[in-house]
Amino acid sequence: MQHVKQATNELVLSDQQLLFIGKTFAHQLDFALNGCAGQTLQVFPTFIDQIPQGTERGHFLALDLGGTNFRVLYIRLEGDRQSWLINQTYSVSQQLMKGRGEDLFDYIASCLFNFVKENGLLNIKLKLGFTFSFPCKQTSRNQAVLTHWTKNFQVSGVVSRDIGEMLKCSIAKYENLDIEVAAILNDTTGTLISCAYQEPDCRMGVIIGTGVNICYMESHCLDKEMIINTEIGAFGSANHCLDFIRTRWDKQLDEGSLNVGQQLFEKMVSGMYLGEIVRTIVVDLMKAGILSSQVFGAFTARNSFTTSNISCIELDSPTSASFTHTKSVFESMQISQASVDDCASLHLICSRVSARSAHLVSAVIAALLNRMARRQTVIGVDGSVYRCHPHYKTIVNDKVGTLLPLYDSDDNSALVKHFRLMLSEDGSGRGAALIASLSARPTYQGVQCEDCSRLGQIECPTCVATA
Ligand code: ADP
Ligand code: MG
Repeated sequence: MQHVKQATNELVLSDQQLLFIGKTFAHQLDFALNGCAGQTLQVFPTFIDQIPQGTERGHFLALDLGGTNFRVLYIRLEGDRQSWLINQTYSVSQQLMKGRGEDLFDYIASCLFNFVKENGLLNIKLKLGFTFSFPCKQTSRNQAVLTHWTKNFQVSGVVSRDIGEMLKCSIAKYENLDIEVAAILNDTTGTLISCAYQEPDCRMGVIIGTGVNICYMESHCLDKEMIINTEIGAFGSANHCLDFIRTRWDKQLDEGSLNVGQQLFEKMVSGMYLGEIVRTIVVDLMKAGILSSQVFGAFTARNSFTTSNISCIELDSPTSASFTHTKSVFESMQISQASVDDCASLHLICSRVSARSAHLVSAVIAALLNRMARRQTVIGVDGSVYRCHPHYKTIVNDKVGTLLPLYDSDDNSALVKHFRLMLSEDGSGRGAALIASLSARPTYQGVQCEDCSRLGQIECPTCVATA
């Protein structure tokens, strides 16, 4: 156990390292918003420039394609910050995830058709919001061009095409579907908007699920705001600015991935990768003779250890005498001879890997809170890692609380920036309905006001309305 501790020390990030990472991110964000040449972070304006009032009403359909699950939802917004929904989950086969674009969108439309039929909604005119959680360049509320696939998707013929158009074409194959694709968004935007429906101070959305992403409301153009999608998962990929914390295990995981060299922040943080990082470390320490190959031999098979296993193991206390949950994970892998020391070793690796993930997310959240400089900010959060890991919320809450005041020493303002993390309840569905319900604004026509020019890259639809 002592040897494991020593061998994995580089997973532990200091507050100074995290502050440096937050400041590096803030600097790159500024560059990206100003459309500077040679920018290393690609951020995307969402064309959503208002948060809900809480009085929105109506009924809507939503689709949620996130990386692991695909769902169809029917949502009623009831005014008074209340809503009601039903939903159905459908599986997306490996074949579809790596197949042709047309087949994927036809499948999505067929699930939509079945859902609409089963719920007696055929021939009813409905607006639809599509929560499509992959990096897209948005050109209006319902036009979004995929820049590249991430997570476990690699579908041909979709990159550089408009997701809204592709969906419309597949829906048009059904005569009884009278559906308008009113909004394309990602899960972070949906989370921000759905939390803002309940909490008017919500200005940030965070997802830690299959992937990781963060969006926030940028103030611009005097008192106007717009949600900016940071695509934080790609942070560190273009200029290697995170290489100083990337371990040989991170590099090994990247080399075996579908998208080598991309999404380097995500590969240290999100659910698709955390279990594999732990497994990679275990195998490495086994090869080094630090862990017993008789006990840990089963870890050599790829994907044999999951991110859910981490959550289960961390239900045990690190000083447990019995390690009941850790033992149950070993047993589920057909390993019966694990000693208390083996359990303590695996527990330590899991807790260091998950804490590093939560700390990296905290570094970015603190940087954004500092940038927004608000007295009170609610942060909507969703994703199975955040939801299911027993300590993730506490770690993020504590670390943001530690990092945020460290920025104040650089800054003469005495503004105390309070924040609160809020677990989102189905932001991908409710958020999609809310955005579909927000009144459409004129689309961008190439005019930009002077106040907005500092946001170079942001094509501000509010300006167009007044131009
Ligand atoms: P999506 O990203 O598709 O919207 P989720 O938010 O449910 O879906 O995230 C799925 C990811 O969460 C998977 O990568 C999985 O490894 C991880 N996950 C599932 N269950 C748990 C759990 N109990 N603890 C931690 N992570 C989990
Ligand atoms: Mg999701």
